[in-house]
Amino acid sequence: MDKPLSGRRAIVTGSNSGIGLGTAEALAAAGAEVVLNSYTDRDEDHALARDVAARHGTSVRYIKADMSKPEECRALVQQAGGCDILVNNAGIQHVAKIEDFPIDKWNAIIAINLSAAFHTTAAALPGMYANGWGRVVNIASAHGLRASPFKSAYVAAKHGIVGLTKVTALEAAGKGITANAICPGYVLTPLVEAQIPDQMKTHNMDRETVIREVMLDRQPSRQFATVEEIGGTTVFLCSAAAAQITGTTISVDGGWTAE
Ligand code: NAD
Repeated sequence: MDKPLSGRRAIVTGSNSGIGLGTAEALAAAGAEVVLNSYTDRDEDHALARDVAARHGTSVRYIKADMSKPEECRALVQQAGGCDILVNNAGIQHVAKIEDFPIDKWNAIIAINLSAAFHTTAAALPGMYANGWGRVVNIASAHGLRASPFKSAYVAAKHGIVGLTKVTALEAAGKGITANAICPGYVLTPLVEAQIPDQMKTHNMDRETVIREVMLDRQPSRQFATVEEIGGTTVFLCSAAAAQITGTTISVDGGWTAE
């Protein structure tokens, strides 16, 4: 099997679940050594790393680091021994009107969904510059390009990470390093599952109606994107064919942002 990323080390933040795990799997399948991460340190987190390693025949480690804490973001990169591929994926969501939005939720979303990427990128770039090769892939969102009501912190953080991506690309341009943001539409992961009960209450609808008429209403394909598709897009951005793709966004959203 083709292993185009063998010899590359990838860190994927927030990767014991959902899109992060799907992306880690895709990178491991392409031959990369992978570092999984989340804020927990359970036996099952380390068992997951062993499982991904066994299935793809590559080295996989799990390193605990809380992406809401700047020093832990930077320590993750140091503990990994640097990286060739950095996927900033960790993210959380909270849905409330601006006037009711809890301050601690605002601060946590900005810290995890935006500031963490600044800290990990700052820690990873010197090693990438030294090697003359690097890929920074930020998992933004359709909400990095469009807004929805009740998601003030999330939309602000995701628009912010699109801006950070562009600055990273400009500073690293011509040095073998690219930085891009993937903007998924709805992907059925635990993060989206958790929004369904609130949306059911807000719209007074059952689960299937919320999925069809509230969530996938924004997505002209009327289909969720999959974690495999996001992982495949990341692997593409790490390929030779993508060497001149930098400072941009790639939407994987079934046509949401075409409208
Ligand atoms: P998820 O809840 O399945 O995964 C989130 C991951 O982040 C988990 O591994 C979790 O442990 C980790 N995480 C949360 N807080 C953390 C912290 N403080 N430190 C370290 N790790 C932390 O959700 P997901 O849907 O897979 O989301 C992953 C990313 O994709 C997020 O940035 C999200 O905004 C983005 N995204 C998701 C969708 C979607 O529809 N699911 C759409 C667009 C963008």
